[in-house]
Amino acid sequence: ICVILVGFLYYWKSQINKNSVLIASVNPRYQPVYTADDWEVPRENVTILEETMGHGTFGFVKQAILQPGDVKCAVKTMNTGCPEDNMVFLQEATVMKEFKGAHHIVKLMGVVSKGLPVYVLMELMELGDLKSFLNHYNERYGEKCGPLSDMVKLRMAAQIADGMTYLEAKKFVHRDLAARNCMVAADWTIKIGDFGLARDIYTTEYYHKKDKGALPIRWMSPESIRDGIFTSFSDMWSYGVVMWEITTYGALPFHNKNNEEVIRHVQACGSLDIPETMHPVLKPLTKCCWKRHPTQRPKFIQVMKLLDEYLDDNFCQVSFYHNGEDPKRSGNIV
Ligand code: ADP
Repeated sequence: ICVILVGFLYYWKSQINKNSVLIASVNPRYQPVYTADDWEVPRENVTILEETMGHGTFGFVKQAILQPGDVKCAVKTMNTGCPEDNMVFLQEATVMKEFKGAHHIVKLMGVVSKGLPVYVLMELMELGDLKSFLNHYNERYGEKCGPLSDMVKLRMAAQIADGMTYLEAKKFVHRDLAARNCMVAADWTIKIGDFGLARDIYTTEYYHKKDKGALPIRWMSPESIRDGIFTSFSDMWSYGVVMWEITTYGALPFHNKNNEEVIRHVQACGSLDIPETMHPVLKPLTKCCWKRHPTQRPKFIQVMKLLDEYLDDNFCQVSFYHNGEDPKRSGNIV
């Protein structure tokens, strides 16, 4: 009986192994091939202007006029005609399609994917990226406006937190939150832009980076550096670094350390020093952003709750936190 039983068990196990096909769930938002959709804009509707806003990974960013309606926008272009590069380039637009209606996230306005060169059309952020804005603040605005006021710094912090609250609610991890990836509008409204590295964590919760490409080490949490784990909590660490950048007018974090030294420092429980000049509300907040244990860091919605007490009504009219999924009303993203 024992022999028959063992034989049966072996047979049963081998059948299980034979039948157990691994079903890998594919991220529904990932598209290896870009297909033109409702976002497609006819090429003749786009007039590119001379004004260059900056240089991206794949090509320049210029001002453009979009028809109908003569709408000013920013156009990102692709320099290379390589089809693989086009796919990677358009992946950012695919991610941005998900973020309709969030005031503090740069809006996608259209895509020209048919023919070459490929264009991604975005809301124009007239003053470019936040790092350049901060770096040149004193020469451009210092005389007229004086140093960046506490209220402006708090509003910047709140606008970035508002955009991140939206992403966190959508279960998107940015992975490259930094002043250079936040954009500034003519009225100094800050919006989160550049989703070249954004990843959907809807099904997996974590994104593990196996191949180590160009990593924004100076903005990265200890667990991202050590294990390649990126979550909304590691975005929160980066948010702390952005608070530090706002306070230091866009200085380079750990400017006196090379990349290896930064890695060693952060791994040995180090972080940036909190500047004396940091706003008293932002000091304890930034310290919390840099807690070693990811879950001890605040959530973006909690940051919004904290900053809310210091903000004016203007902010409330456009904030996702107030108008979208206010936890006081909905409760489903707290
Ligand atoms: P990439 O992701 O390809 O590296 P970025 O998004 O960083 O490109 O854009 C490069 C630069 O172009 C930015 O630093 C910024 O100065 C400018 N830029 C990007 N998007 C906009 C925009 N929507 N409006 C105005 N300027 C922009």
